[in-house]
Amino acid sequence: MLTARRIADQVRAGDLDPIDVLEQALQRLAVREEHVRAYLDPDVEFARRMADVVVERLNRGEDPGRLAGVPVSLKDNIAVAGRSLTAGSRALEGYRAPHDSCVAERLIAEGAVLLGRTNLDEFGMGASTESSGFHATLNPWDRERVPGGSSGGSAAAVAAGIVPLALGTETGGSIRQPAALCGVTGFKPSYGAVSRRGVVAFGSSLDQVGPIAAHAEDAALLYDVIAGHDPLDSTSAPGERASALSVRADLEGLRIGIPEEFLDERVDKRVLQQIEKAVQVLGDAGAITKRIPRGRLAHMQHSIAVYHLVACSEASTNLARFDGVRFGPRVSDGHALWPLYEDTRGTLFGPEVRRRIVLGTFALSAGHADAWYRRALSVRALIRREFQQLFDDYDLLAGPTSPFGAFPLGEKLDDPVAMSLCDLLTAPACLAGLPSVSVPCGLVRKGSFKGLPVGLCLTGAQGDDPRVLAAARAFEVARGEPERSPLWELEA
Ligand code: GLN
Repeated sequence: MLTARRIADQVRAGDLDPIDVLEQALQRLAVREEHVRAYLDPDVEFARRMADVVVERLNRGEDPGRLAGVPVSLKDNIAVAGRSLTAGSRALEGYRAPHDSCVAERLIAEGAVLLGRTNLDEFGMGASTESSGFHATLNPWDRERVPGGSSGGSAAAVAAGIVPLALGTETGGSIRQPAALCGVTGFKPSYGAVSRRGVVAFGSSLDQVGPIAAHAEDAALLYDVIAGHDPLDSTSAPGERASALSVRADLEGLRIGIPEEFLDERVDKRVLQQIEKAVQVLGDAGAITKRIPRGRLAHMQHSIAVYHLVACSEASTNLARFDGVRFGPRVSDGHALWPLYEDTRGTLFGPEVRRRIVLGTFALSAGHADAWYRRALSVRALIRREFQQLFDDYDLLAGPTSPFGAFPLGEKLDDPVAMSLCDLLTAPACLAGLPSVSVPCGLVRKGSFKGLPVGLCLTGAQGDDPRVLAAARAFEVARGEPERSPLWELEA
């Protein structure tokens, strides 16, 4: 599979026909999709119409743009006008988006060919894509394992080599964690760097759209297309954004800190071995790497609890817009009964979503909000400040993306606390609004995750997105092209 950048360059130069590019992707889709089940709606005919439009633009002598002819798959919580949009929920089955999301508008304006919508945990709530209301997605490296989540469909589609690029969304780890578990690059931009207009809301103070790519450079290319101020999103950061591709991909002299808090004892030992090697690669390429003794991120240990209180509180208000559903204790003889919800149209939401709404309404309710929601906001502010202070001394922070590799399907599905640990190392950057990338850094050598990919996570100061992406590109050059899943070269 060609890189997105090469596809676009060749299409713009007239050396490659966008229709051929798409038909090849569709052949890969036809053969590989049954192995991964990455898509909720491949929407093939729509993709063909988009490729035709790119051809018409070329025929008129126009430049189709920076993603000319590049097939890009979107997570199914990102609106494309007139196309299905489920957010992985049966509650939205049959719904069609009335307008384009800002990111879809920008992709179309730059000549991308939107190829289908990918699977996700319902409303983005989960870390394995098993909480999709439709079906699970399988990991291209081992089909008995999860691809991570919630953007597991996008990560699996890229890791299977179906498309070079996809969009995911992240609230607590949903771009970087599936990217790590599938052996591809995933980037969560600074909060506010990418518009959320037309993206189904989960936790509005955390949600960000970001690229998932087979190559770090392509992640930067896609970021450049989608980032930038959107006057129609009040949380979009004002001002010009520097281009990520224009920053030199160079590690020389970068101060990279490795906080001990990122090397938690819950991180798999064999995963840590790959991270140590990756830190060596960063150092050999000229970065000044240094361990940061425990203490400077003292409040990071509360990240999972704070994240769940904030995200669930915001989700409970966001999901209240789906009418016909009332959540709260059903009282009988003065006792609250389980289930603590009443769904007047039958069961629309799956168990994970119901659990989160109940937690969120509880955390926000009169008498409890001070103890839970407001306290969580205070700790969030402390976490953010501790990160800010670290960036006085370091350009980037490095550590593992996920505490472990891809785990077996079903292993954590009935254990929400175990599932929540997937976000141990990703939720902090979300709470602090920081740009953070996961890049593949090798395969586990031994043990329960043998042969599965590990992701190195590089995090920067707020607004430093181009520098984080440049470091990811430089790391990929220094280390060499990432290992590819067994599906990558599968013949039609
Ligand atoms: N796994 C986390 C959760 O379940 C993060 C999800 C996300 O980032 N959308 O909430």
